[in-house]
Amino acid sequence: MTSQGITVLGSTGSIGKSTLDVLARHPDRFHVVALSGDSNFALLARQCKQHRARFAVISNATHATALQTALVELGCKSEVLAGHKALSEVVRLKETDVVMAAIVGAAGLEPTLNAVQAGKRLLLANKESMVIAGELFRKAAFENDTTIIPVDSEHNALFQVLPENFASGLENVGVDRLILTASGGPFLHRQRDSLQKITPDEACNHPNWDMGRKISVDSATLINKGLEVIEARWLFNARPDQIEVVIHPQSIVHSMVAYRDGSVLAQLGVPDMRTPIAYALAWPGRIEAGVNRLNLTEMNKLEFCPPDLDSFPGLGLAFQVLKAGGNAPVIFNAANEVAVDAFLQERIGFLQIPSIVSAALDTCEAGNIEGLDDVLEYDRLARNTSNNILKVTKTHDV
Ligand code: NAD
Ligand code: MG
Repeated sequence: MTSQGITVLGSTGSIGKSTLDVLARHPDRFHVVALSGDSNFALLARQCKQHRARFAVISNATHATALQTALVELGCKSEVLAGHKALSEVVRLKETDVVMAAIVGAAGLEPTLNAVQAGKRLLLANKESMVIAGELFRKAAFENDTTIIPVDSEHNALFQVLPENFASGLENVGVDRLILTASGGPFLHRQRDSLQKITPDEACNHPNWDMGRKISVDSATLINKGLEVIEARWLFNARPDQIEVVIHPQSIVHSMVAYRDGSVLAQLGVPDMRTPIAYALAWPGRIEAGVNRLNLTEMNKLEFCPPDLDSFPGLGLAFQVLKAGGNAPVIFNAANEVAVDAFLQERIGFLQIPSIVSAALDTCEAGNIEGLDDVLEYDRLARNTSNNILKVTKTHDV
């Protein structure tokens, strides 16, 4: 087997680190072409040294000199590239066969889309890209005859239990519903009134998963599940009424496909992102991921219940956004990124996150997406609007 060249966008983050952990277990199958980080130059340098990366990309160019110095001190010969554009350059390199897209937020859109446009196999963790530009990704994957393999645990589970030819249409392959499971986050079963005083650290303290801070807050508001509903719409060409969300606090069943004949196929495993990462890396094969084995007889119980849309209105908003189409997912995502950032800086309360998203959806004008420029422009406008809403939010609850 020839070794595959992999570029990891966002290698210094939670998914990036788990990806490097899996790669290190399979030195014969993969070699690292490029690694990227936004500001953590010290970690990026150590990763480049350990994985013998050809390129070290620092997207925030102010840290380029510090990265260069750190690499020299480690005796590492990786070439430094700086700035956001360099991300799109490394994914397009001839040496890159596979791209792991693990940047957080809309900031990952351009290099992630570039990877597909260059015909690379895309392992997609950066769900925000798919949410805001789903149609562009589908078109690019079709035109460049390449595969997008979801890394998000729910979508990876669906990818595992759907038939190979699902792209011909879910109805054609007998699918009735896609059932996305959600842990419910750290505030499951809490009444809405009790949520206003929540601190960023409490919101980031997820019961089952250890993740970056943005997605941890998204999990606590259930907006993560909302983003995932939209992600599933594009990845699997599903209608909104074909997607269902079920709360499953143990995070053992990662998602399910319900078929026309009554069969429900699920993928199970311990909550460890190295499983979906390893599956995405080895697809259609299977490789060792370093995770604990699931022991069913040692588990207490597996529970399922419907989501509470009153305490967590962000999930309901996502279904409205899907129905609205056009630029609504761009507004939903941009407003959420602005609001989560403000929450993490303790400028707004927890309950104001979905309120700001809702207000932005009401305020921004509807529009259509024809290409990348439209996505970028609507994203910019929605961020401006959300920031204006934020200014008012300091004195009045939205
Ligand atoms: P993280 O915050 O731990 O890491 C983010 C990475 O993106 C870092 O390498 C950071 O340097 C880089 N980055 C941040 N801002 C950037 C910018 N403006 N330009 C370029 N690079 C930038 O996040 P994470 O938890 O690893 O999540 C990454 C993505 O994967 C997110 O889209 C998230 O929703 C998705 N995801 C994560 C998990 C998980 O378990 N962590 C699970 C499913 C999906
Ligand atoms: Mg997920």
